[in-house]
Amino acid sequence: MYDVVIIGAGSSGLMAAISAGQQGARVLLIDKNPRPGRKLVISGGGRCNVTNRTTREDLIAHIPGNGKFLYSALDQFDQEDIIDFFESRGVALKEEDHGRMFPVTDRARTILDTLTQELTALNVETRQRSIVKKIHYHHEKKAVQGVELDDGTKIDTKCVVLAVGGRTYPRTGTTGDGYSWAKAAGHRIERLYPTESPILSHDTLIKKNHLKGVSLRDVKVTLWDSPEHKKALVEHQMDMVITHFGYSGPAILRTSGHMNQFLHQNNQDTAHLSINLVPDLTFHHFLEYAEDNRNKQLTTILKHWMPEKMAEEIVWRAKIRSTTAFKQLTASELDLLWLHVTTFHITGYGTQPIEKGFVTGGGVSTKEVIPQTMESKKMSGLFFCGELLDINGYTGGYNITAAFVTGTIAGQHAAWTALSK
Ligand SMILES: Cc1cc2nc3c(=O)[nH]c(=O)nc-3n(C[C@H](O)[C@H](O)[C@H](O)COP(=O)(O)OP(=O)(O)OC[C@H]3O[C@@H](n4cnc5c(N)ncnc54)[C@H](O)[C@@H]3O)c2cc1C
Repeated sequence: MYDVVIIGAGSSGLMAAISAGQQGARVLLIDKNPRPGRKLVISGGGRCNVTNRTTREDLIAHIPGNGKFLYSALDQFDQEDIIDFFESRGVALKEEDHGRMFPVTDRARTILDTLTQELTALNVETRQRSIVKKIHYHHEKKAVQGVELDDGTKIDTKCVVLAVGGRTYPRTGTTGDGYSWAKAAGHRIERLYPTESPILSHDTLIKKNHLKGVSLRDVKVTLWDSPEHKKALVEHQMDMVITHFGYSGPAILRTSGHMNQFLHQNNQDTAHLSINLVPDLTFHHFLEYAEDNRNKQLTTILKHWMPEKMAEEIVWRAKIRSTTAFKQLTASELDLLWLHVTTFHITGYGTQPIEKGFVTGGGVSTKEVIPQTMESKKMSGLFFCGELLDINGYTGGYNITAAFVTGTIAGQHAAWTALSK
């Protein structure tokens, strides 16, 4: 009989196992893969963006999928505690742009090794290459009974922590196994959808393929409610890239989950977006520069702020001859040119499928989970953490932070619950 069985040795499960082990509980950590942390080691481009050094409010603002649910958990263990956790174990971390924290080694393996060494030090039992098939519940008592592996082995335990992740990158082991177990315990699963996923588009410029590979730096991408751009739903100022199927890069990834939700909730098949190619430039400064270069062709002037191919596309969209010099522009042509520079229309009809996205939107409803402990409100002894929950953040370390925070809280409270039984 174990005190706590944790299913899934990923970001959240490893932390859950450590925090349960630290309380002195008898812990078993199970994973289907030959080795733990398969997604963790590929995250952040293989460098593992462990967390984000920012304020509590900003952290929550970067977790658009139920970030507020994390307030009580963050009161117990937050991003600074994650940093302390690694630094106190000899792992130097560095801060990069937008507060993103990485190991100085630039190797995710450094993070994973630290977690597994801690498990060994705490004598946490681990079982790799073990697929959990079912969770057994005592439905009358509304309590967890045990776990069953696919080879028929039954394991008795007082508490179970589900840390099996979502549905993205299934080759890392995350095939969505936890949703049916949560459902069997009476939990509601919010609709699953891809977030942090490239946007697919039927735009002519994509079909023509001539802008493929064009990178746009520090542009503002806006998702609108309608083709008339009546209301901006979300805006992100970051880099983006044009691909052979649509749009990608940080600003697009951040917009993608919102776009998927918008299309679904409004039963639409096209979303309208715009790109401001010069969000920090005023019309006055644009004119000043153009006047200084009035004999030059428009594309040459626009190239000052954007790649040549994009400049050509804008001049073409504004229906101005490509050889026109700035001094030849009429007032209405100038207005039109500026409009296309600041509101370059694009559309999207969906995103890459959930398996190819970075993060799963939707999952186990947070309304039925106790925010202070991560325990189920439906089944005693059942705890949730990580991407399985209906929590999703932007890339930038926010998902791993949510996984580490919910994992730590779930493991700790599962241990306390088991030890008090
Ligand atoms: C390519 C990529 C890059 C990313 N980059 C970032 C980033 O830079 N910053 C960021 O914050 N987030 C990033 N993420 C997201 C982040 O990695 C995840 O949100 C986070 O790791 C989720 O942790 P988890 O513990 O919920 O799930 P996981 O880490 O996926 O762990 C789940 C574990 O459960 C195991 N499992 C599943 N089913 C069973 C079963 N039936 N029996 C036994 N074991 C099972 C799996 O094998 C797996 O090991 C990235 C994701 C991807 C795919």
